[in-house]
Amino acid sequence: MSNLSLENKVALVTGGSRGIGRAIALEFAARGAAVVVNYNKSPEAAEEVVKKIKEAGGKAAAYQADVSDIKQAEALVKFAIETFGDLSILVNNAGITRDQLIMMMPEADWDAVINTNLKSTFNCSKSAVKHMMRKRTGRIINMASVAGQMGNGGQTNYSASKAGQIGFTKALAREVAARNITVNALAPGFVDTEILEGIPTETMDNIIKTMVPLARKGKPEEIAYAAAFLASDEAAYITGQVLGVDGGMAMM
Ligand code: NAP
Repeated sequence: MSNLSLENKVALVTGGSRGIGRAIALEFAARGAAVVVNYNKSPEAAEEVVKKIKEAGGKAAAYQADVSDIKQAEALVKFAIETFGDLSILVNNAGITRDQLIMMMPEADWDAVINTNLKSTFNCSKSAVKHMMRKRTGRIINMASVAGQMGNGGQTNYSASKAGQIGFTKALAREVAARNITVNALAPGFVDTEILEGIPTETMDNIIKTMVPLARKGKPEEIAYAAAFLASDEAAYITGQVLGVDGGMAMM
């Protein structure tokens, strides 16, 4: 992996302030990319990522935008292009959960998850593609999930949003391939971030034991390595794919 350079690339990572997005921002910057670290509610965490990148000699800037809002997503993409002069890699990573059995799920929780996880992917990609089409090159990576492949009880909203991202990935990959833009999805399994905090330890241990052949949670860095590969020039012939990074949970 160490020879997969992202030198001279400009990357935008939505939800780059924490968890998987943070690990991707750090990994991309370590490989030479200038990185826009998008955040919504965690300015300190985003600034900490930027500080870390700059201290290591890299280029980064933080930008607040709720990516479920198309105007804010447009402004975010504009910021990346104006700040670093380009946008070569978009990672649609921002995501939330609002788990509940369907009988009890408030409509607002359905809407929040679909808008934050799926509509945001449309919002940011629409603006980024305009620029990438002109440049005749680009990489879009969508952070899906095993939940979008297998379904997960108590997560109809989340599973639908992630399955939606997978369909979106395949459709957009066909639309923009002629312009040398690749669109792929990552499908992580259980990765050790704050998003899992609501799951009781005993339940988590049981899931890992019974459902994950590699019998452990993933690390955010392990998702970041896969993202770095898909973002690299070496992955130029891969598009419309869903790469599972899940310890063997969903063998499609
Ligand atoms: P996390 O630690 O909770 O981080 C979520 C990130 O998304 C934060 O940086 C947060 O920013 C950002 N975000 C949330 N709503 C946003 C919005 N409206 N606009 C902009 N940013 C927003 O979660 P994670 O585990 O790293 O998850 C990252 C992605 O991986 C998600 O799409 C998730 O569905 C997916 N995933 C995670 C797992 C897992 O087990 N961890 C498994 C499969 C897929 P602020 O804090 O600044 O609001």
